[in-house]
Amino acid sequence: MEQFNNIPGYELVKAEELKDVKGTGFLFRHKKTGARIGVVKNNDENKVFSIGFKTPPKDSTGVAHITEHTVLCGSEKFPSKDPFVELVKGSLNTFLNAMTFSDKTIYPVASCNDKDFRNLENVYLDAVFHPNLHKVDEIFKQEGWHYELDNENDDIKLNGVVYSEMKGVFSNPDSVAQRSVTDVLFPDTEYGVESGGDPDVIPELTIENYRAFHKTFYHPSNSYIWLYGDIDVEEQLTWMDREYLSFFDRITVDSSVKIQKPFGGIRKCERFYSVDEEREDGKGVFYSFNVLAGENTDLLKGLGFEVLDYCLFGAPGAPVKKALIDAGIGDEVWDYYEGGILQPYFSVDVKNAPPGLADKFCDIILNTLKKCVDEGLNVNTINAAINSQEFKYREADFGGYPKGLMYGISALSTWLHNDEMVFDNMRMGDAYNELRKKVGTGWFEDLIREYFLNSKHGVVLTVSPKVGLNKEKADKLAKKLADYKASLSKAEISALIDDTAKLRKYQAEPSSEEDLKKIPLLSISDIKKEGRGFNNEKILPYLGDVLWHEYDTNGIAYIRLAFKMDCLKSDELFYATLLNDALAVVDTDKRGYGELNDEINMYTGGIYSKTDYFIDLKDYKHYTPYLFVTGSCLYGQIDKTFELMKEIISGSKYDDTKRNKEIFLESKSIMESRLLGNGTAMASLRLKSYDSEAGVFDDATSGIAYYRGLKKLAENYDKEAAKTAEKIKEVANKLFTRENLIVSIICDKEGIDKCTKGIEDIISVLPSVKQEKLLVLRPSAKNEGFKTPGQVQFVCRGGNFKKAGFESSGVLNVLTSMLSYGYLWNEIRVKGGAYGAWMNISQDSGFAYLGSYRDPNLRQTNEIYEKLADHLENIDMDDREMTKAVLGTFGKIDAPLTPRQLGERAFNAYASGKTYDDIMKNRKEALNCTVEDIRKTAPLVRAIVDQNMICTIGAAATVEECKDLFKTVEAIL
Ligand SMILES: [Zn+2]
Repeated sequence: MEQFNNIPGYELVKAEELKDVKGTGFLFRHKKTGARIGVVKNNDENKVFSIGFKTPPKDSTGVAHITEHTVLCGSEKFPSKDPFVELVKGSLNTFLNAMTFSDKTIYPVASCNDKDFRNLENVYLDAVFHPNLHKVDEIFKQEGWHYELDNENDDIKLNGVVYSEMKGVFSNPDSVAQRSVTDVLFPDTEYGVESGGDPDVIPELTIENYRAFHKTFYHPSNSYIWLYGDIDVEEQLTWMDREYLSFFDRITVDSSVKIQKPFGGIRKCERFYSVDEEREDGKGVFYSFNVLAGENTDLLKGLGFEVLDYCLFGAPGAPVKKALIDAGIGDEVWDYYEGGILQPYFSVDVKNAPPGLADKFCDIILNTLKKCVDEGLNVNTINAAINSQEFKYREADFGGYPKGLMYGISALSTWLHNDEMVFDNMRMGDAYNELRKKVGTGWFEDLIREYFLNSKHGVVLTVSPKVGLNKEKADKLAKKLADYKASLSKAEISALIDDTAKLRKYQAEPSSEEDLKKIPLLSISDIKKEGRGFNNEKILPYLGDVLWHEYDTNGIAYIRLAFKMDCLKSDELFYATLLNDALAVVDTDKRGYGELNDEINMYTGGIYSKTDYFIDLKDYKHYTPYLFVTGSCLYGQIDKTFELMKEIISGSKYDDTKRNKEIFLESKSIMESRLLGNGTAMASLRLKSYDSEAGVFDDATSGIAYYRGLKKLAENYDKEAAKTAEKIKEVANKLFTRENLIVSIICDKEGIDKCTKGIEDIISVLPSVKQEKLLVLRPSAKNEGFKTPGQVQFVCRGGNFKKAGFESSGVLNVLTSMLSYGYLWNEIRVKGGAYGAWMNISQDSGFAYLGSYRDPNLRQTNEIYEKLADHLENIDMDDREMTKAVLGTFGKIDAPLTPRQLGERAFNAYASGKTYDDIMKNRKEALNCTVEDIRKTAPLVRAIVDQNMICTIGAAATVEECKDLFKTVEAIL
């Protein structure tokens, strides 16, 4: 083990081997300031640095959140207006962001390139310690909140990035319900306020209090620094001391979080969210049951709660979940154990419930739990839960997020409250065996008894819809603003107009070249020349289409069965999607769905299904849709996993109409959350259905069309139940055939040899049926405006450049990358106050769209889209700007992928006919992209915008106001 006992300026507090992350952990103290530095040294090339501060806020003005946004708006060494944006645009970062939690704020960066990594660290450290927010008032106004008044006769308005962002958050009933939980559970502590900022309270924040907040908390003595990966520890720490830490002296910062005094039992509370009109079904109530659960430092108990989460509430057929649904309380039940804060709690929630059932909801939970304790928990289910958790822990697949980032965040969940406990969450490997020893001893039952049945502190929260709440608030605000205006003298009004103009000027004015140049920049030659290839090998030809994607998966096999769906008729797509939802969660001919789920979790890392499609590169109008059934497992369980997948495909029973109903209502509820929470994804998906058959397919299987089908089904379920079950079975019989199947397996050599028998088995149960291609779908430009009860818009506009005669090119990668933090960022976020905006281009299909996220505007945003081509035609970028644009593009293209993602990417290439030459052609085009190339995209962008396809999900009043933009306007839910 390397030791770092003598790094000048630092004291090594401890070092420990961390075999689960194949590295060593070192905890240092900076002697002069007391700054804490946690280091994990291993071979991961995706290096992570993060600096965090303990920042529990005292009120809901969003001060922590606004500070988070604004430290990145220029600093002493890097005084340009938006170094963060410069870095996103012009570095090879694999992650770059900042996040506010209820008790901390963190600033993480990641990169595989050493030089880049140092640049990012440098800019971030200067930003947090020496930001310009103390000198420039506009920074607070832009990102926090400000009054807006352009003309003497206008009404005064409120605007600001965080203000709009939080209005967006509070537009979603799910968020209102979730955020209310800590509010009622911790009324006397810092967790009881809204750290993101409550839009009603944000305008109470003064610039003085905000600056004081930064001064108090952003100090090395209150900091938590994190370094991860293949780094030179000594060099890193020496540099950090020399450049930043040594300039500070140790101070005492009171950033402690108070402990909530127990209520002595379970309390009841009520909150509301806004709707425009009464729901027809009279539902829409959330009930949430919350109890304190153990101590932040007791990680074994934490794992125990995670196990209970699965056994009692989470798994299909879990007793409490089942009891709640059977009693008709809610369409969707979810629960979670929040272990990342000082006082962990456990939450059980239902949504879409009828009113007046809070007592019944609470009784059902407690009575069912009592029964579980009396009878003892199902041992198989506990073991399945432990295995499934251990699998996830060891797989450590965080999708697109760097491992070191996720480890850093989980480290803080204990480290923040206990200086010694920095690496404990990375050493949980042995804890799973520890937990297995507790099965059957009554340990889990004791947890239920102590923390649920005899809870000393809990809340049953009801969150109900209330008609016109938003309007009430809007009216109140309008009156407040009118009163405020009336209170102003003529001189004050003209000062306000001046301030508004000054802010607009500040926003419109680019940073000086001199300031921009201070931000360090790599050169194009730092980008790798070679692109990433694909590992696609056809094996076992006598078994049909079998693809092996050879990657080092660390002893895990990902088994994917892809069934072509083009044998279906268009009206069967809906039932195929219901099938997709029902697979692996309905009974099979061997066992009930509860037991099936335990089997799956006992032996595998999960079995699930999803639909997807791939565009034929030779003909962009042609695509192939698939239903994927996917299982993952350790090599020792490959046979068993195939066996379970076979059982699911060939033996599932779709005729339990009661079970079907539960599944569909849950899907409907999940879709509702997506419609309200991630409107841009849903609106752009809908927009795609205006353009192509593939788009219609996507919308029918995961978009608004599917949601509408579910809604209709729910309304007539009793009449439709038998027919629906029959149809699902029919569709399953059509899809699961030998001819439709492509087997795709991701693993290394050792794993693939173990798969032959399983593949043979699967094929042997599939019938061989020749079927015609029947699927024909009809896209049409519907141009819809969808109204929600929310307060923000998701504005999408798009078209197809291939239809207009343009070709795909790597230049388009550079274009989309630079627009998201260039023109669209400036116009729609900085000036417009939206949370974000971007352009998305599918090189394969030719479909492209412009989309805004949590946008206070609609018409104005649409006009900005219309001006994009003009902007590009005349765009001026010097060499430095161009280099940044290309670097930013390759940060994304070359971001590390997990083995699973590499395999999926390889399959994608196979299914669409993409070759390594295609990748390299695209790569060269992007690498060599010039400003002239960007200007030449103007006609392409104009063609897209001129196709005039538009779809928006947004606040009812705003959509109504802009009715003329759409062919139809209707409520979405
Ligand atoms: Zn934010």
